[in-house]
Parts: sequence; structure tokens; C-alpha cells
Amino acid sequence: MNNITYDGARLQDPGEEIVIVIDPGHGGTNLGTTGNDHLEKEMTLTTATAMYEELSKYDNVTVYMTRIDDTELSLLERAQFAADKEADFLFSIHYNASVYHNLFGSEVWIASDAPFHAFGYQFGSVQLQTMSEMGLFLRGVKTKIGKTGENYYGIIRESTRLGIPSCIIEHCHVDQERDSIFCENDEDLIAFGKADATSVAKYLGLKSTELSVDYSEYAATSLANISMDTTSTYAYNLKKAPQYCEIELTSVDYDTGEVTIHVSGKDLNNTIIYFDYSLDAGLNWSEYNPWPESNTIYNTYAEGFDITITIPSGVKPNVIFRAYNQFDARTKSNTLILNRFNYEEKYRTLEELAESHGINKYKTYSYETGWRLFPEAFDKLEHSSLGIFTCIAINTLLMLIVLFTLAGSIIRSKRKRLRK
Ligand SMILES: [Zn+2]
Repeated sequence: MNNITYDGARLQDPGEEIVIVIDPGHGGTNLGTTGNDHLEKEMTLTTATAMYEELSKYDNVTVYMTRIDDTELSLLERAQFAADKEADFLFSIHYNASVYHNLFGSEVWIASDAPFHAFGYQFGSVQLQTMSEMGLFLRGVKTKIGKTGENYYGIIRESTRLGIPSCIIEHCHVDQERDSIFCENDEDLIAFGKADATSVAKYLGLKSTELSVDYSEYAATSLANISMDTTSTYAYNLKKAPQYCEIELTSVDYDTGEVTIHVSGKDLNNTIIYFDYSLDAGLNWSEYNPWPESNTIYNTYAEGFDITITIPSGVKPNVIFRAYNQFDARTKSNTLILNRFNYEEKYRTLEELAESHGINKYKTYSYETGWRLFPEAFDKLEHSSLGIFTCIAINTLLMLIVLFTLAGSIIRSKRKRLRK
């Protein structure tokens, strides 16, 4: 490693020659994620190549790639490649997928040890800001420690052992619809590569004559304020959950099924990023939703928010919410118990209503309980019985006319006979 100063906010002073290694994750028989018909080893190569081309446009920077084709490399080989090139930083390019296909968002994994943690944290914060501007949800700049106490992820562990700052960029989740729209084709993957290069340029304060940009001011003023001797306090493996998640009823409309609930959550150490909820006391859960105002760069999130849920008719809800922090550790709320919702009964047709109560629809106007339970349905019943009355009245009138006509003709024929 040449010319690295550990006391500043950046690896080197602007203008000094810098060496970057880009590592397209996976390759060969190591496919990476294959979720949702994607092939990660090819995606990472496309993105890394675009990143390489964009970063090469900057002044005073030499860029290498650990692989430029479908080669299989061990994690040690990749780190050793960076050491041989005397790299100032190794960026490992990845795409993500989760076991239950429920996670979404961008994340950056970094080393836990000083000074690599601080380098990683500063770059990761710039990278997540770039991802946020592209419209992605943020899952944080994080560390994960293995059982031996070293960094869990091999590329970070091996790079750290060789004294090279490194990180893993997990752009998005290929198997979740909120994220998969960002990585549908090569154009998307190239856009990520260019964005990654811009993040690196901002972090290192690079200038580009070709692109007419100068990020030296950005690097001098806008990087996260973190001491170079910081080691990570919270790692993935600690699984420390949010302190609490609480819910209370704001309003309920038994006619429409709409229930508004106030949800609040607190995590003293980390950012709350997702929530989900159950209507059946925890048997079934909704998909994950972004916790409002969640931002892992600034460790901010809404203290509380109102959400309106439509409860299906026929359901007696036992509502529970869960708050998740950036390490996917969760805390369950209290349970909110409501009465059964029956609003669909009102919208049934006359026939369905009559059938469901085993009654003949022509006798329903004497069915008094219907009035109290299903006023709208009863309106229909009443309307229909008016029709029956009209029908009876017309029939009666017709019969009277027929009777009078018959009576008239009988009287006339009797008079004729009398004249004879
Ligand atoms: Zn990967």
C-alpha cells in the first residue's frame, strides 16, 4: 500500500495517484444468486466493467479488475490480486437475494477493524446516498463478524488481513419486486456501475478533465465525520432488536372496514427500516414495508406514523405490528383486538340474503330482524315488495274488469230473453 494516510477523511490527498481494484463478485462455477432468472456472476461483470470504464475517465487513478471474464477466483486470490497491485481500495460488486424473497434495498458491508471500518463507513455513506438518489431503499452500511471474531465476509476478511480497505456493494435484491425493477437489463446494470464510479470519485475527491468534474471539495467537506480509530459497535451477528414497537387505534369504520392505527417504534442504537403486520395474532404476516422516513445514512426514522388498513369482511382482527432494524432484528408490538367486520352483508343481493337465511324472498317483508342487521339489504327488500303490491293491485283491477264485463254480458243476455 502506497501513500496511505490514516489521519484524514480520505485515503489520499487530492491529486495523488491512486490505485483502485474492482472485484466482480462470483464467476465460473460460483454463480452467485440465480433468483428471479438472474445470474449474479454475469450481472456483477457488467456492472464492474461499466464502473471500470467510468472510473478510468478520472485523473490520477489506475483501475484494475480482478476478473474480466467468467473466471473462478477464490476470495483470497481476489484480495491477493489487490495486494499485488498495491491497491488503495477494493470494491467488491454484488447483487442480493433473500431466503424468503422479502428483503429489499441497497446495503454496503464493511470491515469492523480500525482504520478500515472508518474508510468503509465513509465510502458506504456516499454510496448509499447515490443509491437513494437512484430511488433505492437503504439497508445501511454494516459489519458482520464471524465465529472467529474476524470479518464474516471472506473478501473483507482477506483484504483486511492484507491491509487493504475494502467493501461489498450489494446494489439491490433481484428477487423482490420493489428492487428487481432496478436490475432488469444491461442498461440498468451499467447505470449502477457508473453510479458506483461516481461514488468512488466523490469519496476520493477525484477530478476528471474528460468529464469536467471535480469532487475535491465534496471529499473535503461532505464525508461522514468518523474517527479513523473507530471499530464497529453494532454488527449483524449481535441481533440487537429495536427497543419497542407499539400500536394504538386511531379510528375504525365498521361500514367500510377501514381501520387507522398509530404505530410507533424506537431503536436506541440502529435505524428502523421495515415494518410488517398480522391481522390474525401472528399466524400470517403482510409483506415488508418501508418504515416511514427511514434513512440509515443519518440513523433517522419516523417515531410514529398512522396507517390505514382495510380489514376484510368476516374477519375479527387481532392486529400485531413488527419493527425491523437494519440488521433484520425485529420487535413485536402489543395486540389490538377489534370486533368482527361484517360490512359485505349489506351489499349482497336480495336473493343471496334470502338464501343465506333460508327464507322465501316473497315473505321477507315480515322478516323483522333484517331491518336491524342489514338496513341496505332491507331497503332492497322493501323496494321489491312494493313491486309485489303493484303487481297484486294491477291483477285485482284486471280481475274486477273481467268480472264486471262477464256480469254485464250475463245481464244483457237475460234482458234479451225477457223481451222475447
Ligand atoms: Zn454476491
